[in-house]
Amino acid sequence: MPIPGDLLTSALASIAFVGCAMTTAAPAPGAHPHAHGRRREVVVNGKRIKTVDVHAHCIVPPAAALINHPLEAPGLLMADTSTRIAAMDAQGIDVEALSINPYWYRAERDVAAQLIKIQNETLVEFCAANPDRFVAFATASLQHPDLAAEQVEYAVKKLGFRGVGVGGSVAGEELANPKFHPFWAKCEELGVLVFMHPFGTRELEPSGRLGGSGLLTNTIGNPLETTIALSHLIFEGTLDRFPGLKICAAHGGGFLPSYANRSDAVIRCFPDRVGPLPKKDPTAYLRDGQLYFDTIVFTPEALRHLIAETGPGQIMIGTDYPFPWTSTEVDLVLGTPGLSDDERIAILGGTAARLLGIGG
Ligand SMILES: [Zn+2]
Repeated sequence: MPIPGDLLTSALASIAFVGCAMTTAAPAPGAHPHAHGRRREVVVNGKRIKTVDVHAHCIVPPAAALINHPLEAPGLLMADTSTRIAAMDAQGIDVEALSINPYWYRAERDVAAQLIKIQNETLVEFCAANPDRFVAFATASLQHPDLAAEQVEYAVKKLGFRGVGVGGSVAGEELANPKFHPFWAKCEELGVLVFMHPFGTRELEPSGRLGGSGLLTNTIGNPLETTIALSHLIFEGTLDRFPGLKICAAHGGGFLPSYANRSDAVIRCFPDRVGPLPKKDPTAYLRDGQLYFDTIVFTPEALRHLIAETGPGQIMIGTDYPFPWTSTEVDLVLGTPGLSDDERIAILGGTAARLLGIGG
């Protein structure tokens, strides 16, 4: 199915408009960071820092239309660029690394191929129209692992992506399932950063245990899915098999970094229930360069603890835009105790810029 011409035209017109608006509205250097409509410029020890948000959502409407996926929050739409850039400016976010939550993991092979092609090509066009403000994670149809490996190779070699997004599971199957090894092998070979975002804990929802007050499907269902996914990647040996793999887990890695020592303890306490053993203690995987985490943990104490368990080099800003979980991630990083200037700079954008090939 071709992209409906009117949708594409309107999206590109909107992008062009925003490009012009940005040029004329560029604020003077040193503008008050909180002045209305002005771009907050983040400075550490006198040095202007390019901040990078690795957790920012969007959607490509013509791709979603292929499988009649609803368009959820208006702020997800890529045509909503001026509102998005205003929010980035207010929050002190210079660059968003856009990702799309994988709603297509049950699509048949042919339609999945078409959907990913449209999606990735549109993401590239969008980022090219706003090169100072946006990069993107490529999308892939992991339910067809061989196709997903081809998609990520094409995305990196032909379209210029430096990262790829995945869900926390794939239509009910764990990312650690050996069927996904061809995909992980390709990600490792290409050196792309994998951004892993949960899609709730769908298997629990029919039980009703996540119902009722508190939006628990998201509040605890999302971090729980991430916790399960990371735990399997460690215990099933996926991270051992692909030592060059780099995965950034959303929402501070869910609950795993808060209680990681229990995963070491199970090896000591129930040795007959673990095996084959991972090559390292499970906590070591949080620190050794394969796993990264965003900052969406809400308080300086929580971020301090996350960093204590993982290391300052493993952390990158996440905002979850346009979902209103937080708008103060820059201040969170600046306000977290015990960090050197270099460590703050790395978290604010240095590490993401290196991993995603974002220039200074
Ligand atoms: Zn999110």
